[in-house]
Amino acid sequence: MAAEDAANREQDEEAEAEQAPRTVFADLGLSELLLKGVEDVGYLHPTPIQEQAIPIVLMGRDVLGCAQTGTGKTASFVLPMMDILAGSRAKARMPRSLILEPTRELALQVAENFVKYGQHMKLTHALLIGGESMAEQTDALNQGVDVLIATPGRLLDLFDRGRVMLADCKVLVIDEADRMLDMGFIPDVERIVSMLPPLRQTLFFSATMAPEIRKLADAFLQNPKEITVSAPASVATTITTGLAIVPEGEKRRALRKLLRREPVQNALIFCNRKRDVDVLYKSLTKHGFSVGALHGDLAQSMRFATLEKFKNNELQLLVCSDVAARGIDIGGLSHVFNFDLPFHAEDYVHRIGRTGRAGREGHAYSIATADDAKLLAAIESLTGREIPRITIEGIDPVSAEEMTEALESKGRGRGRGGARPAGREERGGRRSDKDARG
Ligand code: AMP
Repeated sequence: MAAEDAANREQDEEAEAEQAPRTVFADLGLSELLLKGVEDVGYLHPTPIQEQAIPIVLMGRDVLGCAQTGTGKTASFVLPMMDILAGSRAKARMPRSLILEPTRELALQVAENFVKYGQHMKLTHALLIGGESMAEQTDALNQGVDVLIATPGRLLDLFDRGRVMLADCKVLVIDEADRMLDMGFIPDVERIVSMLPPLRQTLFFSATMAPEIRKLADAFLQNPKEITVSAPASVATTITTGLAIVPEGEKRRALRKLLRREPVQNALIFCNRKRDVDVLYKSLTKHGFSVGALHGDLAQSMRFATLEKFKNNELQLLVCSDVAARGIDIGGLSHVFNFDLPFHAEDYVHRIGRTGRAGREGHAYSIATADDAKLLAAIESLTGREIPRITIEGIDPVSAEEMTEALESKGRGRGRGGARPAGREERGGRRSDKDARG
């Protein structure tokens, strides 16, 4: 009987799948040339944000998109914009559309996407980001560009020098608005928007919709279509996870042992604080690992160079902070290591989502100490499952009792020397990473 039920259920599911075939890019109204570009990059089906946003953008409507990196949101605005802009030409110094990004890395990534999808189209773009030659950027502007991809500071700089005019910008994208807010860019963004023609199409994306963000959206958008896609809320099943709880002074040795016993092809190693990124980077280098470091305080040129090396497999490991890693497109890694459990449980899901992509097997291992009981509880409550405990040869594991004890002694205000309350640490950590703009 049970077998019969299961068979019926399977048939029902099959019938349902037949009735609702998955959307393909050709269903969304994009031009043939663009579809060819999408086919070249190998995308089969649009992601939910693409499926919902592309037809709306093609209609010329404003969009308020609540979506984060990793959902495919870049293509959801880049693709329809390319079709909207196809067919006419740009005048010198008067770009026809503008994409504002909070960081140089994100701007660069959008430009890469633009080139990838637009191979069969004759659209031009320019990238205005700090830390790169202004003369080259000015030259590009003089040729006339269809899509200008910029960070707010550099754009205003060139505007104030009379090198760029925004009066012809008919499409505006404000990407990662919540990060713009975090980084203090909103006054710049407001100034930029005030220089654009009021009759334009505006696409506004943010990972969160805090009241301040909504206020901005109200000011910049006209009758927008609101599209919300959920964040990857659960841990993909292709990821093998493990947690080693070790004495505080053994964390680095525990990591080295894990790195040596695992078949690591390439891995991100997350730390909560920038100074710990530095310390761990130096320690791993000293122990002979092929490793780079990435956090917001490092010079831009250095960050680009490190990223490139990591992407080209010249570096096996990359120690990084959440903020430095958030916007960059590094996925499909064999391993992710949490040298620290993140202060925010959602960051755990984002961090480990870098491995095990596209159906490939991934591995995510975390290291914690007795003091991390609260952070661990938050992660396990968010993902709805316990991270399997692992032991590391030669390192004494910390027992559940010891964790409870540490938590209780903290609660009684007799925490270990120097241990600050989690809330204070959290804000401190965030602020210090935020200070490192782009
Ligand atoms: P984004 O959220 O725009 O940063 O995109 C995240 C990643 O998903 C990028 O590596 C894209 O190349 C990839 N991607 C975007 N759209 C698709 C799609 N429809 N199918 C497969 N991969 C995609």
